[in-house]
Amino acid sequence: MALDWRGQLRKAARTLSDVEQTVRLTEQERRGLHWAEHGGMPVLIPPYVLSLIDTDDPQCPIRRQFIPRAEESQRVRGDLSDPLGEREHEVAPRLVHRYPDRALLLVTSTCAVHCRYCTRARLVGTEDGYWSLSELEPAFRWLEAHPQVREVLISGGDPLVVSTRRLDALLWRIRRISSIDVIRVGTRVPNVLPMRVDDELVTMLRAHQPLWIMTHFNHPRELTALSCHALAQLVDGGFPVMNQTVLLRGINDDDQVLATLFRGLVRQRVRPYYLLHADVMEGTSHFRTSVARSLEIYSRLQGKVSGLAIPRLMVDTPGGKGKVPLGPASVVSMESHKTVLRTFRGEEVVLIEPGQFEGHR
Ligand SMILES: *Cc1c(COP(=O)(O)O)cnc(C)c1O
Ligand code: SF4
Repeated sequence: MALDWRGQLRKAARTLSDVEQTVRLTEQERRGLHWAEHGGMPVLIPPYVLSLIDTDDPQCPIRRQFIPRAEESQRVRGDLSDPLGEREHEVAPRLVHRYPDRALLLVTSTCAVHCRYCTRARLVGTEDGYWSLSELEPAFRWLEAHPQVREVLISGGDPLVVSTRRLDALLWRIRRISSIDVIRVGTRVPNVLPMRVDDELVTMLRAHQPLWIMTHFNHPRELTALSCHALAQLVDGGFPVMNQTVLLRGINDDDQVLATLFRGLVRQRVRPYYLLHADVMEGTSHFRTSVARSLEIYSRLQGKVSGLAIPRLMVDTPGGKGKVPLGPASVVSMESHKTVLRTFRGEEVVLIEPGQFEGHR
């Protein structure tokens, strides 16, 4: 791909006619693109991502993540425009504090691509890019006044579409807060704009260790030579890389697809961290699985796939009440001297335990 990352963003498809130049659109997609241009989340697909789309297959998992469909204009019961209540949990502009020891800082509204199921569609592509350090100053002040917060998650938008110089200045400002140990950067850049991960970026980030990178791969087809190279740059650069996958109906709601994705990530030295049950974002009901279905798919991975390749299944609860882990019910019964466990093969195994007073005799 000859275009550099800025060229990719400049040449990104933004309208129905842009997309139509490379993809044979269905009627549903035409209506979706029309909706996106008139009130929905704007479309943004860089040429690199377009090149991964199967232009003849409407079910292509890359295509379904980025080309809108008519269903986006539908609203169903329970849909929310800010499903995680992030606006309510802001303690300073752009700073969301929901858990005792960590906080989320939204540093930009710009992304390298617009994912149709995005939880932050209220934000993405709507405002003008990066927020300046002075606009974020109240957030830094809040962090300075709350030393129990030891970790800052930088997200957006996508922090890695911010220029290297500005991102460096932002990270230095955070590093001046002595109570902050760890910085986490949430980004989709390694798989949708891999040419952005160059030596200059890696060298700059290295000055801000300990820094963890959280990627967002949803399908094995996103593991291309270019994205794997971007991941290798980050891992060789010395950053732990974790991945969060969103479970999406019709895209990756299949244990074989997920096993291939997670094993592929481990091969790239990336640890699958969370498998996220889709949020109740308005206009995304066509992407969502039921909790029962998510658990069924997840249970099929347990025990059969290396523990390194199994993320935790999480539901982020509506209204910002926090993330809840889900798992197959493994405790069958619990009595004072014995607990019955169910294994991944479905066998029940009795575990004999010391009695309450035995240890003292
Ligand atoms: C998800 C999230 C975090 C991080 O949660 P972990 O379970 O530590 O990955 C922190 N803050 C907010 C507001 C979040 O939504
Ligand atoms: S990259 Fe992340 S924030 Fe940006 S549109 Fe996709 S899901 Fe939303």
